[in-house]
Amino acid sequence: MSREEFLEESYQAVRRRISQACERAGREPREVTLVAVSKTHPASDIRTLYEMGHRDFGENYVQEWDDKRGFLPDDIRWHFVGHLQSNKARYLADQVHLVHSVDRKSVMKELNKRSDSTVEVLIQVNTGNDLAKGGVDPGDTTGLLTRLVEKYPRLKPCGVMTIPPFDEPIETTRQHFATLRGVFEQCQEALVQADSEFVDGFEHISMGMTSDFEVAIEEGATLVRVGTALFGERRT
Ligand SMILES: *Cc1c(COP(=O)(O)O)cnc(C)c1O
Repeated sequence: MSREEFLEESYQAVRRRISQACERAGREPREVTLVAVSKTHPASDIRTLYEMGHRDFGENYVQEWDDKRGFLPDDIRWHFVGHLQSNKARYLADQVHLVHSVDRKSVMKELNKRSDSTVEVLIQVNTGNDLAKGGVDPGDTTGLLTRLVEKYPRLKPCGVMTIPPFDEPIETTRQHFATLRGVFEQCQEALVQADSEFVDGFEHISMGMTSDFEVAIEEGATLVRVGTALFGERRT
């Protein structure tokens, strides 16, 4: 099987699984956007999915993304899903469709300062109270959102994101997803209370990867970030 055939098959299989999960959850497949997480895979793989009509791709490392995107069409919607350092934020400004991993003031400040136009962002939430990972504590999320809205006019808050701890039983992971959904609802409520212009655009819950995206869809995900199930094992 050629690499193209492999990718075509895995892409169709993931699409089918998304549709089936939506059906079980009583949701419409168009409510869920598949973000193809292409880190470590070559630009040619991205192009293969692009030619099948796919447009949403996720990358984790600023340098790697910058190296690849030069070879690829302009109408790709890039999602930055990696841990974001404030000294790298300027490279993303005005270049990506959505930054999934905003979790602190220094990153918000830098993105705001370096952008000429609006930057759409998600707030990353640490649903696992997992010290090793990025993300704001669930209880501090509405505070960070309020700060973002008040102090950083170029940032547009569009929702929340989580990366749950790895290697936990799926029912524990499901609880992390339910926690994120709860945080999302609190944020929505805070925006409504503040009579914010961002109420309507605050619509995304980014959760679910290869091992758990179907459960994430059942728990309300609107963006699922899938790498391995599409591209195979990562090259290092
Ligand atoms: C790598 C990565 C993914 C994709 O992971 P898979 O398990 O390969 O699907 C999704 N989200 C983030 C934040 C990642 O770093």
